[in-house]
Amino acid sequence: MKKPKVVVLGAGYGGIMTTIHLQKQLGVNEAEITLINKNDYHYETTWLHEVSAGTLHHDRARVSVTDLINKNKVTFMKDTVTDINIEQKKVILKNNQEIEYDYLVIALGYESETFGIKGLKEHAFSISNINTARQIREHLDYTFATYNNLEEKPEGMMTIIVGGAGFTGIEFVAEIANRVPKLCKEFDIPRDTVRIICVEAAPTALPGFDPQLIEYAVTQLERKGVEFKIGTMIKECTPEGIIVSKDDQTEEIKSKTVVWAAGVRGSHIIEKTGIENNRCRVKVGPDLRAPGAEGVFIVGDCSLVINDETDKPYPPTAQVAMQQGPVAAKNITTLIKGGTDLQTFKPDLKGTVCSLGHDDAIGVVFGRKLFGTSASAMKKVVDNRALFLEGGPGLLLKKGKFNFF
Ligand code: FAD
Repeated sequence: MKKPKVVVLGAGYGGIMTTIHLQKQLGVNEAEITLINKNDYHYETTWLHEVSAGTLHHDRARVSVTDLINKNKVTFMKDTVTDINIEQKKVILKNNQEIEYDYLVIALGYESETFGIKGLKEHAFSISNINTARQIREHLDYTFATYNNLEEKPEGMMTIIVGGAGFTGIEFVAEIANRVPKLCKEFDIPRDTVRIICVEAAPTALPGFDPQLIEYAVTQLERKGVEFKIGTMIKECTPEGIIVSKDDQTEEIKSKTVVWAAGVRGSHIIEKTGIENNRCRVKVGPDLRAPGAEGVFIVGDCSLVINDETDKPYPPTAQVAMQQGPVAAKNITTLIKGGTDLQTFKPDLKGTVCSLGHDDAIGVVFGRKLFGTSASAMKKVVDNRALFLEGGPGLLLKKGKFNFF
């Protein structure tokens, strides 16, 4: 009998967890499993703010895909997915190669969402993957290294703007606030030459967080020199900086470093499939299957799962992606083995911790509010747990964060 072909797209949190569970549950005679990813490495997306700010080397945040999978059971292909033909059950790769599937798991993650704001795509950096993170770090280093070599310093050269004071924006601006004094010292630049500005359109930083935690975070960051512009919309990004508006007043802020961290959408490949979606996120069924696409499961940031209690979608997080992987794998295994009783995905959210640099954080874990070093230690526990789930004790010992205090 022909073995069913299971193809997993993306080796991020959702894709790697799906693959690891598939390889455990299916024997080589039961299915052909293929994992396709743009790079030959998996990266810890939740660490990219550190890589971008230059507080963590990019190699610490990535690991070879083949170190995480069982090569006897899974075929790994380093390639870029350019399209998916749902009717013909085929994945199309960059080199025009076509890969057939019986079961497909789409785990292609997120892309930056610029909400149509003029010039952001062209002139702002985004924290999207290892390469964009390295680009931000290199740009920062180059800017600091160049400053003292210029007779005429362009206005705003040493102004760093972060668009968005949500989770990612705050985590990134905190790393920047920690790194800037070191860069100033290294390149002989007075600290007060550098401005760090965080712009947020909502009426508060960290919308949705507990007000006491928000106040703590903002106070800590302001103490390190971060200027917050809350309730302020970025209208345009230009090569010279940004144009913002608040209460009908428009202002130009000159800057050579604008990092957009205010929005994500699912992979653009979703749009190409024709599957009904909202900003490239597909409202999946309880068993994680995509509506109207036979054999297709979607996990991670390309999926949209509604929280029955609030009737709102769960925010796209690594926590959710990592929990979806095993459920998708279990359901595919059940179908391959002829079963029909599929598992329902129900997130088991343990909490959220937002780092404020390597030594500080805020969070709510198991319903308890955490601040400062205890929150920071918890953040490292969360990061280490992800490594353990992906690559066992070996990966944890190799890449783990053990500088708890
Ligand atoms: P990803 O982990 O992003 O993986 C997608 C994979 O698909 C990548 O390997 C990519 O290379 C590959 N890929 C993409 N396109 C293609 C293509 N066309 N062809 C082939 N391969 C492709 N969540 C939390 O729960 N807690 C946190 O503390 C947290 N912190 C965050 C901090 C930052 C700075 C950021 C940016 C996000 C953070 N998140 C956090 C969100 C979390 O990282 C995402 O929700 C999570 O990564 C989604 O997992 P995923 O598997 O869908 O995608």
